[in-house]
Amino acid sequence: RRGRAGYRQFEVDLHDGRWMLLTQTVHSSGWLLEIGVDVSDLGREHRELRIARDLALRASQIDPLTGIGNRAFVLGRLGEALLAARGEERPCVALIDLDHFKRVNDWMGHAAGDQVLCHFAEGLQASLRRSDACGRIGGEEFLLVLAGVDLTLAEKIVNRVLDQVRAARPLPDRPGFAYTASAGVVRALPDERAEDVMARADAALYQAKDRGRDRCVRAD
Ligand code: GH3
Ligand code: MG
Ligand code: MG
Repeated sequence: RRGRAGYRQFEVDLHDGRWMLLTQTVHSSGWLLEIGVDVSDLGREHRELRIARDLALRASQIDPLTGIGNRAFVLGRLGEALLAARGEERPCVALIDLDHFKRVNDWMGHAAGDQVLCHFAEGLQASLRRSDACGRIGGEEFLLVLAGVDLTLAEKIVNRVLDQVRAARPLPDRPGFAYTASAGVVRALPDERAEDVMARADAALYQAKDRGRDRCVRAD
C-alpha cells in the first residue's frame, strides 16, 4: 500500500541483461499494482515508443492547466461507479461551478483566472479520499464522484470544499481577493444513467446559482 502518487513508469535492466518495463499504479482501494513487461527483445526505439504511447494515453486523461483529471477521466470514473453500484453503494455526484468567473477574468486578467482555477483544483483534489474522483469537465466547472457516502454526507463534504474556497486568498499579489463556488449534489438512483445523474446535478447547480450562489443545493 502506498500514498497518493498515482502512476509511475520506468525501465530497469536486470543483472542478467534483460530489460523490464515497469508500471506502478495506485488503485482507489490503496493497493499498488505493478506490472513488469520483459521488453528485452524490443530495440531501444521500440521501447521508447512504448513508453511514449503509455504516457500519451495517460496525458489524454489529465487537464493540462490544473493537472487534475479531465472530463474523459472523471466521466469514465462515474461510469465505473454506476456500473459497480449495488444497493447502497450508489455514488453521489457533485457538479461545482465557480461563481462570476467572467468577472475574475475581467478584473484580474486571464492569467490570474488560471491561477484561481489551479487553486480550486488543488484544494478539491486534496479534499478527496482515494476512493473518490474529481475532474475539470469544462472551463470553470468541476465534477466530483463520491463513493460510499449518502447524500447528507456528500452535501457536508461539498460544503466543506465551498467553505475552504470562501476562506482562501488564492492570489498572493492580491491578498484582498476571494472567490466562491456553487454546487449541485445528487445521489445516483438505482440503474440511473450517467447523463441523467449529470442532468439532475446540473439542475441542482442551477438552483444554487439562482438562490444567490456560494452554496450547495441537494436534489433529493
Ligand atoms: P456564474 O456564476 O453564473 O457561473 O457566472 P460565470 O461568469 O462564472 O459564468 P460563465 O459560464 O458565463 O463564464 C465562465 C467564464 O469562465 C467564461 C470564461 O472566460 C472563463 N473561463 C473558462 N475557461 C477558462 C480558463 O481556462 N481560464 C480562465 N482564466 N478563464 C476561463
Ligand atoms: Mg461560473
Ligand atoms: Mg460555468
